[in-house]
Order: sequence, then C-alpha cells, then structure tokens
Amino acid sequence: MTTVIDPKVAPESGRLTPGTPLLEVKDLHVEFVTRDGIAKAVNGVNYSVAAGETLAVLGESGSGKSVTAQTIMGILDMPPGRITSGEILFRGQDMLKMSNEERRKLRGRKIAMIFQDALSSLNPVLSVGYQLGEMFRVHQGASRKEAKARAIELMDRVRIPAAKQRVGDYPHQFSGGMRQRIMIAMALALEPDLIIADEPTTALDVTVQAQVMDLLAELQAEFNMGLILITHDLGVVADVADKIAVMYAGRIVETAPVHELYANPAHPYTKGLLRSIPRLDQKGQALYAIKGLPPNLLKVPAGCAFNPRCELATDLCRTEIPALHQVMDKNDAEIAGRASACHLWKETLHG
Ligand code: SF4
Repeated sequence: MTTVIDPKVAPESGRLTPGTPLLEVKDLHVEFVTRDGIAKAVNGVNYSVAAGETLAVLGESGSGKSVTAQTIMGILDMPPGRITSGEILFRGQDMLKMSNEERRKLRGRKIAMIFQDALSSLNPVLSVGYQLGEMFRVHQGASRKEAKARAIELMDRVRIPAAKQRVGDYPHQFSGGMRQRIMIAMALALEPDLIIADEPTTALDVTVQAQVMDLLAELQAEFNMGLILITHDLGVVADVADKIAVMYAGRIVETAPVHELYANPAHPYTKGLLRSIPRLDQKGQALYAIKGLPPNLLKVPAGCAFNPRCELATDLCRTEIPALHQVMDKNDAEIAGRASACHLWKETLHG
C-alpha cells in the first residue's frame, strides 16, 4: 500500500504546517429573531486564519465579532439566533454541515475558546488543578495522578508561580491575571489547532493585559496554532496580530496586515478607532471619541451603516452600501491583504 504524504501536514504531529489555511469563514449571515423584528447580526462576513497566524477581529459591541466566533464554536443560542447562509471551513470541511456530535468532538480538542470572564467560566467549587486535570481524564482517559501531573505542567507552562503548591487552590484564590492564565492553560490542554480568544484581557489592568497577551502570542507560536483574537481595543493587538479585520454593524469594513492598518487606515471608522487610543505623547489632551453610537441592529441606517457618525459622509454614503474593495497604492497596484468598505477609501488612505 502506498502512503500518501500531504505536504501541508507535519507527519509526526498531524498538525498543519505554518501558513496552511486552517479556518475559512465564507459569506456568513446570522440573524436574531426578536419581538421587534429581525436583527441581522452578521451580514456576509468573510475571513480566514492559517496555521501559525493571528487574526485580530476588532469592533464595538454589536459589531458581530462575538456572534461570528460563537457561530464558529457552535455555541450560538439557536433560537433566537439562526444561520441563514454561509460556510465555515475547518481544515477544508464545512462545520455547518457536521452533526452535533462531530462539532462537539472538535470543541476543546481541535478548537478551543478563551472567554473574557475567567471567574464565571471556572467552577468556583472545584480546584483549578481538578478542572485542568479533567481535560485529560475525560478526553484522554488519564488517571487522577497523571491528570494532576499534567495540570501542574500546564500551570508551569502559563507561568503560574509555585504551580505544585497551588494546584489544589480554588479560582477565587488567584488574581484576575492568574485566572486568565488558567483559562489559557485549559484552552491549550489538548493542543488545539485553533484558539478563539474573546476579549481575553478586557477585565485586566493594562500591565497584566500586556503580560497575558504576550504569553498567548508566545504559546501560539510555539504550538503553531491559529489564533483569532476578538477585541474592541486596537491598543492590545498591535504587537501580537498578523492581520486585522475591522467589523461594524455586522460587516467587515476593513482588512489589512496589522502594521499597515496602524500606519495608514483605509476606512474612516478605523481611523477614528486609532485616534481614540490613548498615547503617551498626548498627555493632558482630551481623548478623541468617535461621535455617536453604533447602530441598533433593528434599525441600521441606509447605505453605509457608519454614515451618521462619519465626518466624510456624502449623499452616496446615505443610499448605497459600499462593497469591500481591494485597496490600491498610489500607482494603482493592489496592496496584498488590504480591503476597505468605504466609497471614499482612496481619499481616506491617500488624502
Ligand atoms: Fe464614511 Fe461614506 Fe466611507 Fe461610510 S462610505 S465610511 S459614510 S465616507
């Protein structure tokens, strides 16, 4: 019998080689049926993440970023949510066509999620060592002793000091930053291909945020995982993401490699978000804030959903939804990985 070797898969680990597409979200539409009407929460979203790559998905609350993540994980409340169309390919297979049992098997083993609030995600009456060890007992049939040893190993890995002594401690005995490290350890336990981290550092103070983010980035590179980082804060992803997708009112409005987006945004919304990041060289100055609020998804403005908040809005913006265009440089050459859903992207980028 001939053994077929797939060059995209490392033979010893079965993991995809860096750069191989891992997850592709294609034209995804998700809506919620409410008493007041249908809220289109995700409206034709496309994004992808490769093995070893970090995608940051950025947006205010109600932008659809977390709903997309919950749809990928298969944890969306249905009803009231419903997926009306689209595909979510994981290693080439459409997860939306899988049975519940197949989806359940992927969760934890192949795709893991880290939530914002570690305290409510961890069981308060079980020690962290027990909760970490459970992953190995349930999924790999480890004995109690083995599970405890693996739990200590994981706690060491995420740099929890004195892991051996603290393995029997309960969640409330750890600081917020340490609890978030425990959540990362749980997500990493079965060495998944993909981690989705939904606002993993929002509840932490700025210094601890940076440490947790650095740890996540380091482990992601070490395990060659894909990482989707969901955040409302552009300030926390600059050093860890490879590329960014900015969402607004259920659509992606800009995509770009991270450094290009920071240096030169091609959408007025992204520009506004960047201006709102506090900077050390602007001490004492009032912080910029984008005027207005994100739209109610039951009453999204006609045309570009951002038009009531946009300083550049024209009549065209109020009537026609801008498509996500390829962004070009000044010589009209395509800029790889860059797209903007703005009628005035040229003026925004080059103006
Ligand atoms: Fe502003 Fe118009 Fe661009 Fe929308 S399409 S972001 S309203 S300029």
